[in-house]
Amino acid sequence: MRAGSIVVVRNLVKRFGDLVAVDGVSLQIEKGEIYGLIGPNGAGKTTILRIMAALLLPTRGYVEILGYDAVKEASKIRPLISYLAEDAGTYRNLSGREYLSIVARIYFDSNVEASRAVEEAISISGLGERVDDRMKTYSKGMKRRLQIARALMTRPKLAILDEPTSGLDVFHAKHIREVISRHVKEGGTIVLSSHNMLEVEYLCTRVAFIHRGHVLFEGEPKKIKNELGASNLEEAFIEVASR
Ligand code: ATP
Repeated sequence: MRAGSIVVVRNLVKRFGDLVAVDGVSLQIEKGEIYGLIGPNGAGKTTILRIMAALLLPTRGYVEILGYDAVKEASKIRPLISYLAEDAGTYRNLSGREYLSIVARIYFDSNVEASRAVEEAISISGLGERVDDRMKTYSKGMKRRLQIARALMTRPKLAILDEPTSGLDVFHAKHIREVISRHVKEGGTIVLSSHNMLEVEYLCTRVAFIHRGHVLFEGEPKKIKNELGASNLEEAFIEVASR
C-alpha cells in the first residue's frame, strides 16, 4: 500500500447508456474513517461503491484506492479490500462454516491464519451453533450477518459495505455497528451506504449526501447538523435536497 488517502475520487462520472448515474462526484476518505454515503433509491451510491471496488469501470474521472489507480491497477486493489454487495447471495447447500472456510482458504496461505479468520467470522456473524446448518435454512438477517463476517474476516485495509445492516433487527444491527467500529479501531477503514440516516449519524465519522448522482453536502454529522440547523441527518438531508 502506498502512503496517502485511502480513497480519492475526482470528478467521477458513470453513464449507463443515456442515464447518468454518477455525475461529477469527488470525495476523499482517510485511514480510520467510517465514511457513509446516504441518499434515496437510485441516487448512485451502489454505482460509486462498485467503481471503488474495481468491479465497474468509470465513464470519466479518476478513482484511487490505497494509492492505486482503480482502472489501471485494479488487480493490486482487489486483494486489499472487501466488498459486500447489497444483494450478496449465499450457497444453499453449504453450511455457514463451510462457506467461510472456503473463502478463508482462498485468501490465506497459512491454515492457522485461515482457521483464525473463520473463528473470527463466526463470532462476527453471531450465528452460534447455526453456523453448521445449511445456508438454505438461514433467515435473511442470518445470511446478511454471514456475508458481513465474510467481508471483515480477512481484515481488509478498506471494507466497502453496501447497506450492511439492511434487513437486520435492532439487536443484530447494533452488534454489526460495534463490529464495524472495532474494525476501524484495529486499523481498517470503511465506506458504507445506508438508508438509515440515524444509524449513519451515530456510526460515521463523515457522510456524503448523494442525490441524483451528485454530492449535495459532505462532512461530519455533527457539523452538518449545526450548519443546517437540523436536529438530525434526516432533517438535514431533506433541507438540502429540497433547495
Ligand atoms: P438504492 O438505494 O436503491 O440501492 P443507489 O443509490 O445505490 O440506490 P444505484 O444502484 O447506484 O443507486 O443506481 C443509480 C442509477 O443507475 C439508477 O437510476 C439505476 O437504475 C441505474 N443503474 C445502476 N446500475 C445499472 C446498470 N447496470 N444498468 C443500467 N442502469 C443502472
